[in-house]
Amino acid sequence: MSIWVICEGQEGGYRASTLELLSQARRLVGGAGGQVVAVAVGDEAAAAQALRGAAHRVVAVQGPNLSPYAADPWVGAVAGVLSAGAPRLVLFAEGTRTRELLPRLAVRLGASALTNALGLEADGEAFLLTRPAFGGKAYATVRSGDRLCLAAFRPNSFDAGAEPVAETQFETHQASPDPSRVEVLEKRPRASARVPLTEAQRVVAGGRGLRAPENLKILEELADVLGGAVGVSRAIVDAGWADHAIQVGKSGKTISPALYVVAGVSGAVHHTMGMDTAKVVVAVNADPKAPIFQYADYGIVGDALQVLPALTAELRAVKREA
Ligand SMILES: Cc1cc2nc3c(=O)[nH]c(=O)nc-3n(C[C@H](O)[C@H](O)[C@H](O)COP(=O)(O)OP(=O)(O)OC[C@H]3O[C@@H](n4cnc5c(N)ncnc54)[C@H](O)[C@@H]3O)c2cc1C
Repeated sequence: MSIWVICEGQEGGYRASTLELLSQARRLVGGAGGQVVAVAVGDEAAAAQALRGAAHRVVAVQGPNLSPYAADPWVGAVAGVLSAGAPRLVLFAEGTRTRELLPRLAVRLGASALTNALGLEADGEAFLLTRPAFGGKAYATVRSGDRLCLAAFRPNSFDAGAEPVAETQFETHQASPDPSRVEVLEKRPRASARVPLTEAQRVVAGGRGLRAPENLKILEELADVLGGAVGVSRAIVDAGWADHAIQVGKSGKTISPALYVVAGVSGAVHHTMGMDTAKVVVAVNADPKAPIFQYADYGIVGDALQVLPALTAELRAVKREA
């Protein structure tokens, strides 16, 4: 049994979600004598030494047109390395890049594709993958068949603490993909001291109930005390109060934090589809009948503009005393 992971680079290392996938893969192949293979592409392979212990093999895919990331050459190069290695299961972390790559690879390789997954277990030589269905009202467990299966997992689905492997072998795969049809003229990384929304363990999100753009700062203040990220509903993005990059939901980011504090959000299914696997949800809403309370472990009926600052002040006091 071998499990391959397509690694995603971030700030000279790799996304936390990549490390989580490698960890779960090690857990599953551990007793079965299988291999975990990490694939790093282009200049993202420069940090490959950071994957020592994370996989049995680290394959650096090298060749023209691979840096910076562009979908066309990456599809060609990754399809090439997967065809050569013939794995049964390949894991991706959910995200913008995966949404672009995974379906195209699936078509190119005739593979089955599964997105938005949360759980992965071995079942003999096959795999059982769990994902939400019907907008999070149910969970479906899918068994991988005989074909290659490409699966994307929500960040924070697994812990990254599985035993490292004793030995990691480093290899290079030479690819000669076609140039991209898109030319990258400039990259402007968003400057933020906060953890990225998709990787954050704690997220504070707000919606139209916050009433005015200047009130978004109460989300930021609470997120800072919690060491987390800020998210918003689409209503706020559509109103031009916040960037789409921090929208949670069907047409935004899908997240699975340990804690989701959500204030002034009604809980429309398009929003909850992006957060319904958060481990603990604290909802603040002025309307006791708001649907968001159906997803909440803790519900506070009240004015978000009063409740959130009170929560922030209390947490600051607790931190000071600690
Ligand atoms: C194809 C499609 C995709 C979509 N994708 C997304 C998506 O990705 N993400 C997303 O969020 N939405 C998405 N939507 C929109 C979604 O259906 C809802 O319209 C949106 O989530 C509503 O945002 P909201 O809860 O902030 O606003 P509202 O629905 O207006 O809710 C505001 C809430 O705030 C409460 N409130 C008011 N004042 C206060 C106060 N002072 N204190 C506390 N609570 C207060 C109200 O009781 C209410 O529950 C999508 C819709 C479509 C059709």
